[in-house]
Amino acid sequence: MTEAVKTDVLIVGGGIAGLWLCNLLQARGYQCLLLETGDLGGEQTLLSQGIIHGGLKYALGGTLSNESEAIAAMPDRWRQCLDGNGDIDLRGTRVLSDTQHLWSAGSVASRVTTFFASKMLRGRISKLPFEEFPSALRDRQFRGNVYRLADLVVDTPSLLDTLRAPVADRLIRFDPATDRIDWQSQGVTAATVSGVRIEPGVTVLAAGAGNEALLKAAGEHQLAADIRSQRRPLHMALVRHNMGHRLYAHCVGASNKPRLTVTTHDLDDGSLVWYLGGDLAERGVDMNATELEQATRKELLALFPWLDFSAADIRTVRVDRAEPLQDALVKPDNAYAVRRKNLVVTWPTKLTLAPDLGDRVCDLLADLPAAAPAQPVPAALPRCQVARPRWQQMFGETHD
Ligand SMILES: Cc1cc2nc3c(=O)[nH]c(=O)nc-3n(C[C@H](O)[C@H](O)[C@H](O)COP(=O)(O)OP(=O)(O)OC[C@H]3O[C@@H](n4cnc5c(N)ncnc54)[C@H](O)[C@@H]3O)c2cc1C
Repeated sequence: MTEAVKTDVLIVGGGIAGLWLCNLLQARGYQCLLLETGDLGGEQTLLSQGIIHGGLKYALGGTLSNESEAIAAMPDRWRQCLDGNGDIDLRGTRVLSDTQHLWSAGSVASRVTTFFASKMLRGRISKLPFEEFPSALRDRQFRGNVYRLADLVVDTPSLLDTLRAPVADRLIRFDPATDRIDWQSQGVTAATVSGVRIEPGVTVLAAGAGNEALLKAAGEHQLAADIRSQRRPLHMALVRHNMGHRLYAHCVGASNKPRLTVTTHDLDDGSLVWYLGGDLAERGVDMNATELEQATRKELLALFPWLDFSAADIRTVRVDRAEPLQDALVKPDNAYAVRRKNLVVTWPTKLTLAPDLGDRVCDLLADLPAAAPAQPVPAALPRCQVARPRWQQMFGETHD
């Protein structure tokens, strides 16, 4: 006879969204199980830059947009979690930087200065004297201003480890070749994994880009057929160097988007990787890896002429950001969570917005009683591991 287990909530996808929700809902008394096809965090979450930001970088045009306002509370929500006083206990998570810097290069300096001096932003940003510049910018050749933002940067591998630990037994490896999800018009009736039948009350889709295929299956049963997703492609560069500069900063260029966003990550051999996002990663989408490497070297030379990157090893990685469909591929303002019958569809749209996602999903489930018995998770269900960071995968083989 097939072994069967009931669960209040079945979460599909084990990136930041699924893991955050599994921790939150389990702590609120719901029995949860999570299905993951790969390793935890192995898609967008471990490829993110880990910046927990309050939206100021989007306000560079001069006014705070909706996005900026909605997101402004997030760094404080994360800090509470990191201190053990928030919705989720993140005390095991390493903070790479407690601040984020912003620098303006050359001709845009005056526009940026006027903007940051505005009343609205006082307290969230401060202009730094030369001696407090991050080391990569502290050079007499540097022309421009450096600001400190009240944002932070978290180490995503330790974030994933911290989120996995309390619910490790509930994180189930799903093999699409042999396992199955059965749908009907109300939602998922059952998921069968390694011969175990899981019967959920509500199912939460938190599969990032994978939501697209799951929604297609739901749509065949006339469920959530109106919900559409979009992908925004990026081509990121990773720069391994031995200069020791740890930089967590946005460079402001002529447009209202960061010209370059730099975060720094450690390799096992003690060298550092600068992970580069911003406009370079958007322009990089139309380039092959060699072209992006050349464009990266050119950009580093233009922005840091006093640093010698000639010995740096540069690799690139393509990744799509997966989000709900928006007009003209604009960035969504908030986390997205919508319920249709017994199905909840989510995209955090940013790592930063995980607390906002948690609030929204809890609201959507407010009428759901926690009814499943607290029973042991069957041993026959295979459990998941956290994925290895991409920079370790890319540079680790040659330098381990
Ligand atoms: C290059 C880059 C940089 C970023 N930088 C930042 C940043 O600095 N700050 C910020 O706030 N945000 C950032 N983001 C956005 C952020 O990373 C994402 O919004 C967030 O990680 C999405 O999390 P997720 O859990 O929805 O998706 P994912 O992390 O992609 O997780 C989805 C999971 O679902 C699994 N899955 C897929 N299909 C199925 C299925 N059928 N069954 C079971 N499991 C399935 C996948 O294997 C995956 O593990 C960045 C994104 C990118 C791409």
